[in-house]
Amino acid sequence: TKTDWTRIAQELSPVAIIDEPVLVKKRSRDFFWYSPILNAQLKGCFGDLVAQPETRAELAHCLSVAHAHDLPVVLRGGGTGNYGQAVPLHGGLIVETTGMNRILEIGEGFVRVEAGALMADINAALKPHGWEMAMFPSTQDIATIGGFVAGGSAGIGSIANGALREKGNIISLKALSVEAEPQEHVFDAEQALQLHHAWGLNGAITEVTLRTVPTRDWIGCMATFDSYRDCYAAGYALATSETIGRKLCSAVEARIVSYFPRLEGHLPAGRHLLVSLVPREDMDAYRALMEAQGGTVDLALSEEERKARGIPHVFEFAYNHTTLQVLKADRSATYQQYGVSDPADVDAVARLGAEVGDDVWQHHEFARLDGKIVAFDLPIIWFTDEARLREIDDTYRAHGFSVADAHTYHVEGGGLKNADYRHLAWKKRMDPKGLLNPGKSRAWEAVRHLSAPEIEAMAKD
Ligand code: FAD
Repeated sequence: TKTDWTRIAQELSPVAIIDEPVLVKKRSRDFFWYSPILNAQLKGCFGDLVAQPETRAELAHCLSVAHAHDLPVVLRGGGTGNYGQAVPLHGGLIVETTGMNRILEIGEGFVRVEAGALMADINAALKPHGWEMAMFPSTQDIATIGGFVAGGSAGIGSIANGALREKGNIISLKALSVEAEPQEHVFDAEQALQLHHAWGLNGAITEVTLRTVPTRDWIGCMATFDSYRDCYAAGYALATSETIGRKLCSAVEARIVSYFPRLEGHLPAGRHLLVSLVPREDMDAYRALMEAQGGTVDLALSEEERKARGIPHVFEFAYNHTTLQVLKADRSATYQQYGVSDPADVDAVARLGAEVGDDVWQHHEFARLDGKIVAFDLPIIWFTDEARLREIDDTYRAHGFSVADAHTYHVEGGGLKNADYRHLAWKKRMDPKGLLNPGKSRAWEAVRHLSAPEIEAMAKD
């Protein structure tokens, strides 16, 4: 039977709704269009109605209405994910969380917030107390903390503080189940990992408690190099430095830098770029290191100086913002995510760069995973077709690099939730009818008829 959306809208009252088709369509999209493959698959997928709860009770009401009518439900924060995480594959209700945005508690080394709080607002609230988020994505102005925990993985700060999934970064979560009477469950640090990067499949996160770190006077630095090999090597040296603080360390090929018009006149043309955030007190050591690595420090600006000169944040040239700068000029660009097998092996990175082809431009991010410095390549790829993309993947693999595919809308595709049934056991408990973000998990379809303990048992095999 066809859903009567006018009636659903009435039942959702007093929760605010959006039913204007143009606006519903807008809220059915995220940044999946980075991928021409996802774009072809997802551009025609839209939800039917948007609900905008402002409290936990209103969110619970939305979920109980969805449960009563078997409506697909997709949670949505800022809609900035890159894998179509927030795109409704089977229509239904979009629940936008940005009205649930209170900052509840700031303490020694932690912050407790509602899931719809924007990360820029969390950072702004923390700063006067001497704290900042341990990591955040460059989309912090429009992205929510709930969306980061449910859809993201790492970001600015990860070079110092690890990935989100590492012990201590997510302290606890609260989430509502999708039942006739939604229940709020509290997840400790260990259990929270079953909701982290599960794309809103395993419950509606209401509240997040996160680790914070002491804030510092960060200087946005740009150093340039003659060769990409030297640039990457300087990045690795900074990433592994035991004396210089840093919360960002990103190496970008000169061909990509030529797509950054807002840096024109601020950097010498044709050079490879190392983007970093370094605390003021370590600037002398940073300058000495860059010089020793054959680079020149062309920009080093405090936040106030940056604003006065009208230059974007350095992190707008790092992580997935790098790709966005190129996409702004040319929509035939895309990207991919590769793990560098041995980040210290500068020559291996240079060899791969020389071999892979002119349609692949390298860009490396350094991060710390489980205490070890790792590097991953987020290259710009000039897209011709999927066959060529897979050939590029194969070249990386042949060099011993791993692939975390950015061109799939299945939660198992990107690498974090591979063959792990524990999170699906939580899905069974939190969303027994399978209404949350349907179609995004391949593994779910095979186990949805089982009980939570049966699904959990599969994880142990
Ligand atoms: P949304 O896109 O709205 O949602 C993401 C997923 O979480 C969806 O599956 C959604 O259903 C689910 N979700 C949202 N809210 C809830 C909730 N309350 N409960 C349960 N599920 C929920 N990501 C990184 O990890 N690191 C980066 O450095 C990074 N850089 C980026 C740079 C650019 C330019 C762009 C476009 C994206 C980048 N991303 C990055 C991806 C994305 O911006 C972040 O992961 C962001 O934190 C997502 O937050 P959001 O509010 O936009 O989430």
